[in-house]
Amino acid sequence: MSKVLVIGCGGVASVAIQKCCQVSEVFTELCIASRTKSKCDALAAKLAPITKTKVTTAQVDADKVEELIALIKSYQPDLVMNIALPYQDLTIMDACLACGVNYMDTANYEPEDTDDPEWRAIYEKRCKEEGFSAYFDYSWQWAYRKKFEEAGLTALLGCGFDPGVTQAYCAYAAKHEFDTIDTVDILDCNGGDHGYAFATNFNPEINLREVSAPGSYWENGHWVEIPAMSIKREYNFDQVGEKDMYLLHHEEIESLAKNLPGVRRIRFFMTFGQSYLDHMRCLEDVGMLSTTPIQYNGQEIVPIQFLKALLPDPASLGPRTKGKTNIGCIFTGTKDGKPKTYYIYNVCDHQECYREVGSQAISYTTGVPAMCGALMMLTGKWTKPGVYTVEEFDPDPFLDALDRYGLPRSENRAPALVD
Ligand code: NDP
Repeated sequence: MSKVLVIGCGGVASVAIQKCCQVSEVFTELCIASRTKSKCDALAAKLAPITKTKVTTAQVDADKVEELIALIKSYQPDLVMNIALPYQDLTIMDACLACGVNYMDTANYEPEDTDDPEWRAIYEKRCKEEGFSAYFDYSWQWAYRKKFEEAGLTALLGCGFDPGVTQAYCAYAAKHEFDTIDTVDILDCNGGDHGYAFATNFNPEINLREVSAPGSYWENGHWVEIPAMSIKREYNFDQVGEKDMYLLHHEEIESLAKNLPGVRRIRFFMTFGQSYLDHMRCLEDVGMLSTTPIQYNGQEIVPIQFLKALLPDPASLGPRTKGKTNIGCIFTGTKDGKPKTYYIYNVCDHQECYREVGSQAISYTTGVPAMCGALMMLTGKWTKPGVYTVEEFDPDPFLDALDRYGLPRSENRAPALVD
């Protein structure tokens, strides 16, 4: 019996909400609140005939702490699921603290305005000290640890697939498969084809910021940064086949480097087709990925936001996308004094996702873990005061829930390794 407030009603949130409504015995009441209330109302109307969960809706601007506080106070939820954008992480955490409510999200904080001089000064100091230059990092949300501890509240960060399930795979490998873990390679393969020359599978602004940033990996206790897309490998993915993949900076590397003692190297690879890379390079070269506003015909325009308006809405890719995703982690290390390798991954079919919840697999593979993370928190399996990432909790009940609710794991004890 619990009441949950979901903030956001985009591609990922709509999957998470539909999955929550399949587990009505836990998610008894749910309020969908977002900037555009009509999207929340449409989803609530779709769900009303098929779920026992009591679904209501609300309008909220999650950039405004006071609006959030008023909504949380009136709805009185047990948990706030932030599935809006990373820009809102801190305002929603502030509101949860003010109201004494647990918090979770699917991506770590990054600012909308990367030209803000106050943020920029802190960012540039962090780049120098830490050695990676992505706009997003955990420091902003880790700074809330003491406040959540003192309030006796839990904040769960980054509970999608990657970040999210990939960290649960790491915790599982450390708990059951290895005495020591030497290397982790996180492999994110999207073998789906939507038929467009160029489109992103989740929010274009967040996605393009992530993949156009310099790549980096963790090795021997520090970050190694490389130019964007400059390390390429090929890998033959189960049920997808041979794909090109590129080393990216990714947020879970930062927490795993702290939480996997003794790990020598952590890398993250994502597959991209040549058409995607060519378009992205061209858009970047002409300035369309810039987050700095320009004046056009007397109006202020942020190029990447204008681009977002031109690109297909990721939520509209569902009916067109065919093929599978394959996301997981390859480990090397030792067990009982002997060297060992292990690969744990999930394969997800775009069309099966579409048939079940009307969305493609990228939203599905993020929305299902968000629901399962909420389930862990609401059933008391993942509650401890403070701010935590997924690998800091027991992976077993979470992976069991993923097996049950649509993202079953596969294992390979003799995988091909990435050089
Ligand atoms: P969408 O753009 O599809 O949806 C975002 C939603 O948030 C929309 O409903 C939007 O409202 C709402 N929103 C945006 N700003 C505000 C605001 N100020 N106040 C209230 N609501 C707001 O994004 P996605 O569903 O693709 O992504 C959601 C999150 O999931 C992102 O944080 C993304 O980074 C993360 N993600 C995580 C992954 C993982 O594996 N961990 C993978 C993929 C995504 P409106 O309809 O008005 O625009």
